[in-house]
Amino acid sequence: MNKISSPKKIKEIMSRHGFKISKSLGQNFLIDRNILERIIKIAEITKEDCIIEVGPGIGSLTQYIAEAARFVVAVEIDKALIPILKDTLKDYSNIEIINEDILKIDLHKLIGERFQNQKIKVVANLPYYVTTPIIMKFLEEKVPIESLTVMVQKEVARRMQAEPGTKDYGSLSIAVQYYSEPNILLNVPPSVFVPQPNVESAIIKLEILKEPKVYVQEEDLFFALIRDAFGKRRKTILNALNTGNLKLDKNLLKEILYESNIDENRRGETLTIEEYALLSNSLAKIYNNL
Ligand code: SAM
Repeated sequence: MNKISSPKKIKEIMSRHGFKISKSLGQNFLIDRNILERIIKIAEITKEDCIIEVGPGIGSLTQYIAEAARFVVAVEIDKALIPILKDTLKDYSNIEIINEDILKIDLHKLIGERFQNQKIKVVANLPYYVTTPIIMKFLEEKVPIESLTVMVQKEVARRMQAEPGTKDYGSLSIAVQYYSEPNILLNVPPSVFVPQPNVESAIIKLEILKEPKVYVQEEDLFFALIRDAFGKRRKTILNALNTGNLKLDKNLLKEILYESNIDENRRGETLTIEEYALLSNSLAKIYNNL
């Protein structure tokens, strides 16, 4: 099938439909076949797979996905792109386009209605202004997906994969690694998009874990603790948690840090996900006994 993704073809499609690119919706369309093929390979899409694509744009990636997968549901926020997608993807019978904001969609309902008991993967060249909320929505809502293969800003990819003690390590690293195993698989230059973004990009694959990486008794408390610990990066873990939103008592903190074998003078950015789980479980135990 003729590919949509050459620069000439994209220009021709946009001018035929009188379409103007919206920077505020993060519209950077892929024009490189090699990268499109790499995304399909990295996502390991087979004819058994049902795919949710976020932001199909004019359909460049959607076309490659549809050729490899069983079925694609593509969710696009921009109403102006819907007639274009209907035109560019008209030869495919395994694509459904939904005109919605992915952040407002009920994912469990969507999956229940379209994909009951099927193998589901998420594949997307994400709009950079909402990358983190979109990824966290799929992870936190615990939707039954196998993996997310997404193009994101390189710095964000690094933060998702970062290890304790590095400058990129933060609450995003822990949140992503709690639910999945992240792997940056390809760095991507601005030249493969129109218009070119001002930043470098990367393709990262998040393989969803069957169980979260660590046992956490109360997830809300675990994530609140992490937010406090990284809210004041320069402080020791003792002071960061004492002066954070949870306003934890200093003596109580000293006790649970000691019990968890964590030096109170360490900084939050050096604690592993297992150590945060220990701390939050000790705290949960104390709260539940009060
Ligand atoms: N997939 C296309 C490609 O690779 O050429 C376009 C990718 S472009 C980086 C991001 C797309 O996401 C745009 O089409 C944009 O309109 C859409 N988008 C932005 N915010 C969205 C949201 N909240 N929900 C769904 N789609 C969104």
